Amino acid sequence: MANELTFIMIKPDGVQRGLVGDIISRFEKKGFFLKAMKMVQVERSFAEKHYSDLSTKPFFGALVEYIISGPVVAMVWQGKGVVATGRKIIGATNPAQSEPGTIRGDFCIEVSRNVIHGSDAVGSAQKEIALWFPDGIVDWHSSAHPWIYEN
Ligand code: UDP
Ligand code: MG
Repeated sequence: MANELTFIMIKPDGVQRGLVGDIISRFEKKGFFLKAMKMVQVERSFAEKHYSDLSTKPFFGALVEYIISGPVVAMVWQGKGVVATGRKIIGATNPAQSEPGTIRGDFCIEVSRNVIHGSDAVGSAQKEIALWFPDGIVDWHSSAHPWIYEN
């Protein structure tokens, strides 16, 4: 479905290290459309909600500290297969296993400083978009659509 949406977040290390432009560029150049974007420094309770599925993991506390350690860039991207392809563009969770050419493969070393988040399924994308963009997202249609999609 060409109107599939995913939630992508550039984590505080990605912002501090000046990787925002490069990361956005990779998604744009692929042909995905940017549907929403904001810079925000989130509260602890919000970060805990975003990562609630991981609350029993031993790294949960450190993960929450990491996410609230500075501003993040929250985005919604649209396109056919954007959830799964977005995860491929991002690369494996642990940068030691991320292929070169992926964002994590190119830009980071440690799993606890892995620069970017991407939704892992269409359902979790919907939940994350509703959490991060409760007022909805801009409804716009790119004039590049017919240059990227046959139909
Ligand atoms: N994480 C960590 N240590 C681990 C596993 C994960 O610090 O052993 C962090 C890492 O920042 C990761 C996030 O927790 O991106 C969420 O974990 P998940 O398994 O959902 O990985 P992702 O979906 O981000 O690839
Ligand atoms: Mg995940």
